[in-house]
Amino acid sequence: MKHANIAVFVPHNGCPNQCSFCNQRTISGTAKQPTPDDVAAACETAMRGGCDGAYVQLAFFGGSFTAIDRAYMLSLLEAAQPYIKSGFLNGGIRISTRPDFIDEEVLTLLKKCGVRAIELGAQSMDDNVLALNKRGHTAADVESASKLIKAHGFELGLQMMTGLYSCDENESFMTAERFIELKPDTVRIYPTVVLPGTLLAELYLSGEYKVHTLDQTVEICSVLLEMFGKAGINVIRLGLHDQQDVREGYLAGGYHPALRELCEGEIYYRKIRSALEGKPQGRYDITVSPQEISKAVGQKKKNIDRLAQCGYICKVHGDERLERFEIRVKKCF
Ligand code: SF4
Repeated sequence: MKHANIAVFVPHNGCPNQCSFCNQRTISGTAKQPTPDDVAAACETAMRGGCDGAYVQLAFFGGSFTAIDRAYMLSLLEAAQPYIKSGFLNGGIRISTRPDFIDEEVLTLLKKCGVRAIELGAQSMDDNVLALNKRGHTAADVESASKLIKAHGFELGLQMMTGLYSCDENESFMTAERFIELKPDTVRIYPTVVLPGTLLAELYLSGEYKVHTLDQTVEICSVLLEMFGKAGINVIRLGLHDQQDVREGYLAGGYHPALRELCEGEIYYRKIRSALEGKPQGRYDITVSPQEISKAVGQKKKNIDRLAQCGYICKVHGDERLERFEIRVKKCF
């Protein structure tokens, strides 16, 4: 079934926290707070656009939905009610929020208002990393909020960051393992991007913080994709959305408009390399699913070039019978 997301960004103006990476105006592209009329207008526009037969969900993003003023939060949810009752929003509402702003009371409210999916900005499951990056919550908050969300019958989404201040790849893998234990329905992975006006920018410019490069980010995130894939957990986003102000204004970090494609290419490289392990150098035919050929080849033929440097001259072909990430390797004579 086709999915249609109606996204409404809800900034947390006046947020008392100072997360090391946050410059919400840069991330969102706008600090304007939507009104209930804006919510209704977004639904009307989507209706006119034609979502026949689709699974339509209204998504309130911004990361602090249950931490904003309660009356304002309810007014936004209220604006969506006619579209839930008419059946247009057949996927209900999706929100993202902080783990320390989840309790029985707010979950009961959200349930009544048609919220079906709750995403938590966990970012890390290491308390030291959370404290140094001034998140203002602990890993235990993530665990208890996740369990409560699932106990109330919501779909659970968890969001993590890689490459925060004082992080290494082991922290990312540990966070992914702890996420997998919590059995979320979806995960989003956001590699850290240093934005001007943030604490990370100060630490980066003073030389105290070395953010992961794009290559390091691809290395780590490709492993994370495999970990979640093996656990049957859907990674619904990898990397910040491509926005002109981020693209042109960020100082450093693992940013690329096609980051997922790069990470999936890295998975193919590892798979091909491991299939060739111990085989004599020479020419090889690599077969993958036809839709995956460009990833197996790698961006700017990166994988083909790396394999050639190891003495393997490879040509990639497509075969409909192969699944995603399935490969066949055959020596050419
Ligand atoms: S990321 Fe942190 S500082 Fe930024 S709005 Fe969310 S809670 Fe506030």
